[in-house]
Amino acid sequence: MLPKGAVLALCHLMCSWQYLETCDFFVDKRHFLEKRMLPKCVTQLAILLGLVCSVFLLSATKASAGVDYLSYSLNDMSILIINDTENRFAAKLFPTLDTYPDAKNYLVDGSFAGIVRTFVIKNGKRTILVDGGWGTESGKRGRTREILAQVGINANDITDILLTHLDIDHVSGLVENNAPVFANATLRLCRKEYDAWIVQGHVRNEASEKRAKTVVALYEKAGRLSLFNWGDEILPGITALDAAGHTPGHTAFTLTSKGASLVLLGDLLHAADLQLMHPNVNSVYDHDPARAAEARNRILSRCAQEKLAVAGAHILPIGIPSKMLKGGFVLQ
Ligand SMILES: [Zn+2]
Repeated sequence: MLPKGAVLALCHLMCSWQYLETCDFFVDKRHFLEKRMLPKCVTQLAILLGLVCSVFLLSATKASAGVDYLSYSLNDMSILIINDTENRFAAKLFPTLDTYPDAKNYLVDGSFAGIVRTFVIKNGKRTILVDGGWGTESGKRGRTREILAQVGINANDITDILLTHLDIDHVSGLVENNAPVFANATLRLCRKEYDAWIVQGHVRNEASEKRAKTVVALYEKAGRLSLFNWGDEILPGITALDAAGHTPGHTAFTLTSKGASLVLLGDLLHAADLQLMHPNVNSVYDHDPARAAEARNRILSRCAQEKLAVAGAHILPIGIPSKMLKGGFVLQ
């Protein structure tokens, strides 16, 4: 395995946003080559480097948070998967863990593998950010903005922000110095989440609620807040899915382009290995545990049945769930 610096150097050598697409197994290389009209020798070199690069990126996806971003192509949609912050989940965050003797198999030094991820979807003229990551004003160093800059996306290029929910690790990076970071973007949020956090309150601790209210208020004040309902096609090819339980308006998004789909799960899973194997296990972060477990089982079952790939805000693997006889899932 090459060190991180060498992998990144290889990526940067060939990876503008478009070049990064060639690093992915899912990309339609023919379309890329026609679009760019590159000389034959250059295209062959690009494909060769792309194949080499894809091996490293794919292994990195499985292995760790050791890369800054990955790409995923869904026909007309290009998706950038951003590793905002490294993160692990301590065993004590899962109160029913002792019920599952095999759980210790997934623990490394008392915690489960995890991450904080954001996503960028390029679809036609839209550049859509899904969740905002930690940012730099809430005690962590979220890297979403820095990584966007690496791939040539300016904050002002973002046309829309889709929020899975209002927890601090998903919204804090959306404002800085008391102003929206993404000044041209419309913030799109589930109406139930807005009602629970902004109108009623008492969903999380004071600090989290304060940050969520600041973020929503700043975009609302700029006339850039739009509320949606579950089932709505929020933007072309993007539908909101009821994933409530983690928070009252927690939402997953189904992305579809020309028959291919990817479901962004938000916080449906925190410790992927554990909760895929035992979907009834909740974390202490799940606001309504029974509902969270129901949503996890329902959405993973549907994705397994319809063979829809999934990616999450806190899990490293990306893949299509398959249901096992004992009731758990594996991602393939
Ligand atoms: Zn989260």
